[in-house]
Amino acid sequence: MTEKKSKLANAGINTQLAHNGFTPKDYHGFINPPVVHASTVLFDNARGMETRAQPYTYATRGTPTTDALCEAIDELEGSAGTILVPSGLAAVTVPMLAFLSAGDHALVVDSVYQPTRHFCDTMLKRLGVTVEYYDPAIGAGLAALMKPNTRLVHTESPGSNTFEMQDIKAISDVAHRHGAVVTMDNTWATPLYFKPLEHGVDISIHAATKYPSGHSDILMGTVSANAQHWEQLKQANITLGICGSPDDSYQILRGLRTMNLRLERHQESALHIARWLEQREDVSRVLQPALPSFPGHDLWKRDFTGASGIFSFILKVDSPDQFRAKAHAFLDALSLFGLGWSWGGYSSLAVHVGLSDRTITKVPEDGPVLRLQIGLEDTKDLIADLGVGFDAAGSI
Ligand SMILES: *Cc1c(COP(=O)(O)O)cnc(C)c1O
Repeated sequence: MTEKKSKLANAGINTQLAHNGFTPKDYHGFINPPVVHASTVLFDNARGMETRAQPYTYATRGTPTTDALCEAIDELEGSAGTILVPSGLAAVTVPMLAFLSAGDHALVVDSVYQPTRHFCDTMLKRLGVTVEYYDPAIGAGLAALMKPNTRLVHTESPGSNTFEMQDIKAISDVAHRHGAVVTMDNTWATPLYFKPLEHGVDISIHAATKYPSGHSDILMGTVSANAQHWEQLKQANITLGICGSPDDSYQILRGLRTMNLRLERHQESALHIARWLEQREDVSRVLQPALPSFPGHDLWKRDFTGASGIFSFILKVDSPDQFRAKAHAFLDALSLFGLGWSWGGYSSLAVHVGLSDRTITKVPEDGPVLRLQIGLEDTKDLIADLGVGFDAAGSI
C-alpha cells in the first residue's frame, strides 16, 4: 500500500472520494487524470514488444484514464480488481459469462433487474446453463436449492422495483459451502451504503450509469472482484474485448467526487417524500427499505449505512380494473417528474412498474406499483407535483 492509500483508508468518505483513484504528481500536477484516447501503445524495442514488459500494451487492456477509475472503485469496494464495461447490464452479463459453463446450474433472485432475467432465460439457456429463480427472503434456506452443479448465485438487494431485502451474508455462506461464486448487483446502495465484499460476496456489480454518473448522460458498468475471483474475471473481460471508453471513464470518476454529497440529498429528500406518502389515504403502501414499516427493514438496518433516492409506492384502488387507468392518470399529470427509465440523475422520474416477469415473489395486488426516483430538486416542489398526480388519479 502506498503512503497515500494507507492515509486514505482511514479517512472519511468525502475525503476518500476527493482524493482516490489518481495521484496528481503522476501527471505533472494536473489534479484530474488525462483522458487518453488510444488503441495502439508503442514499445521501445522488439524485445519489449515480445515480453509486453511495460505497464500499458494495448488500450483494450486499460489506459491511465480507465486505471484511475478502476483504482477509485477498488478503494471503495475493497476489491482486488475492477473491470469497466459499457453498461450496467453488461456488468451483470460479463461475470455470468466469466464463471458459468454449459451444464452448470445458477440461482438468481426472483426480484432481479428484468434485463438480467432476460439474459438468463435466453442467452444463458442457449449456452446450456440452467437458471433457477429463488425467493429474495430465502436466506440460509438457499441450501435446499443448491445442486452439485450450482456454480453461481446472483443476488440483488434491495430487489428491482419492489425493493425486497436479502440476507446477503447467509446466502453467501451457503453458496460458499457448496463452492459457488456469489455475485451481487449493488446498484441501489452504491459502495457508499453497502460494501458487498465485506458481507461475503465475491463479485460486486454496479450500474455506474446511475449515481456515479449522476447526470443521466453516461452508460457504464463496473465489476469488482475479490482476490480469489479477480484473475478469472479479468481474463474473461480481455477474452470478450469489452471495455469502458476513455471519455465515459473520465466522467464517471468526476461523478464519484461528489457522489456522497448527492446521495445524502437524494436520501434525505426520498425519505421525506416516502414519509409524506405513507400518511396519505390514497396510498396503500410505500416500498422503501429505510422505512420501519417495510418488511425487510431489519435487514436493511443491520447491513446498510444509508438508503438511496429510489423507491416505490402502491396507489390505492377500489378494484383491479382501475390499476392502469389510475396509474396513467397519476403519471400524465406530473410535470417535474419525468416519465423515463433509469435513475441516479439530478432530476426526478416516475414509472408504472410492470412485474409480470416474477415467478416466485408475490406481486402486490392492492394497486399499481409506481416507482419514484427522487432527484435533487426542492422537496416542496416535488410534493406539489405529486399532489397534482394524486388529484388526477382520484378523479378516475
Ligand atoms: C439500471 C440497472 C442496471 C443496468 O444499467 P444500464 O447501464 O442501464 O444497463 C443493472 N442493474 C440494476 C439494478 C439497475 O437498476
